[in-house]
Amino acid sequence: MSKMYDKVALIGLGLIASSMFWAMKRGGLAGEVTGYARSENTRDIARRIGLCDTVCDSAEEAVRDADLIVLAVPVGAMGAVSEAIAPYLKPGATVIDVGSVKAAVLDSVGPYIPEGVHFVPCHPMAGTEHSGPDSGFASLFDNRWCLIVPPEGADETAVERVEAYWRALGSNTERMDVEHHDLVCAVVSHIPHLIAYTMVGVADDLRRVSDQEVIKFSAAGFRDFTRIAASDPTMWRDVFLSNKDATLEMLGRFTEELFALQRAIRTGDGDELFDYFTRTRAIRRSIIEAGQDTDAPDFGRVAGKGEAK
Ligand code: NAP
Repeated sequence: MSKMYDKVALIGLGLIASSMFWAMKRGGLAGEVTGYARSENTRDIARRIGLCDTVCDSAEEAVRDADLIVLAVPVGAMGAVSEAIAPYLKPGATVIDVGSVKAAVLDSVGPYIPEGVHFVPCHPMAGTEHSGPDSGFASLFDNRWCLIVPPEGADETAVERVEAYWRALGSNTERMDVEHHDLVCAVVSHIPHLIAYTMVGVADDLRRVSDQEVIKFSAAGFRDFTRIAASDPTMWRDVFLSNKDATLEMLGRFTEELFALQRAIRTGDGDELFDYFTRTRAIRRSIIEAGQDTDAPDFGRVAGKGEAK
């Protein structure tokens, strides 16, 4: 593959940014990659493991002359980071973010993007429960979706270049409007995380009365919940605070379904339960057919393999 941007600046050096770096190296997609993270500890780790060609001690230094700037910090920090880098952005440069929520990011970042700089919000639907500069790997985005959410009036050439960049990183891309994005992600990602957090929280309560048995006998279903519930607390706090409307809407629907199943169990309505579980099984089959998961008994979750987020 060939170089797509001369200079790329990664702001935030966690799972997503480090995976982007390794995928860029794999494909030879950037002439030079600079990086910046707020803590010295993260910058030190990045230098030690060779994450970025240059790790800078300020965001200003990292973004100077960059053609592509990637905002890879928690959603709640996007606005402040954009404000800090705005004066140093090169005219004609493109800023993308990788936040899991899009309306809040458009609102908080958009106003700081200077005239003549392009802003193309993106959401790679790939992740793991790990975080930090040493958690990334080159194949994280392979065959995963990256949703592109261009603001109204976005420059078409800049958007197409960003799409081509994500495809070169290994992703499939699709454009979405902002409200639709936040609703879809509430269903496929945000609510499942909330349910996992709740389920593990309930089990933790139970553990106190049942003396460790929850851990000792943890079955595959529960273990899957614990994996999801181990995700980064800052990231997920910000996701729920910034995608409030869509998650509350979907949570309302979820609660209604749960009550319907509860009633079916109480009244012994086996047909209702059987039909329901038959429908959900078909969804699982279509996900496998779409190549978004494997049929392996461990759900294909070998160490380090990316999950849709
Ligand atoms: P991560 O591994 O936790 O890394 C976050 C980075 O942001 C770190 O470099 C951290 O700096 C920096 N940071 C944290 N709080 C900050 C603040 N208040 N101001 C400035 N910088 C701050 O996170 P990640 O998983 O890469 O997630 C980054 C973005 O990608 C988030 O917006 C998330 O919603 C989105 N996303 C994540 C996933 C996923 O599964 N993880 C999937 C898709 C999209 P220090 O290390 O110096 O603290």
